[in-house]
Amino acid sequence: MAKRKSVCLKCGQFKGEALTACPACGFSPKADRDVACSLLLTEPFDLGELVVGRSLDELKEASHLIQSGKEFQYNESEVTQLSQMYTAYRAVPTKQIVIDLIRWLGPAIVGIAVALWLWIR
Ligand SMILES: [Zn+2]
Repeated sequence: MAKRKSVCLKCGQFKGEALTACPACGFSPKADRDVACSLLLTEPFDLGELVVGRSLDELKEASHLIQSGKEFQYNESEVTQLSQMYTAYRAVPTKQIVIDLIRWLGPAIVGIAVALWLWIR
């Protein structure tokens, strides 16, 4: 799989994955808004049911803009939506792990309880 290209929010240099630290300036997106903006400044990918990102041409434009000290104009509603999507997207695996744990441990706990009950009796 080809590596995606992303643009650093702070210095406008191209880097690899959107959420990794920038090799040029060391900035790595942590705040919700920075994460959302970083996901916008990356080559298109699927985030749940939504495809986010920008074409390479748009990324080059954004890269130039940021490097020349101008502010890239983010679509604020897109940023907000993306930030919410990302939070929901990140929350899914945790929820799934808990469900899996209960599914796996449930029968074992019942088994132990039955064994204990038989033993006490
Ligand atoms: Zn940077």
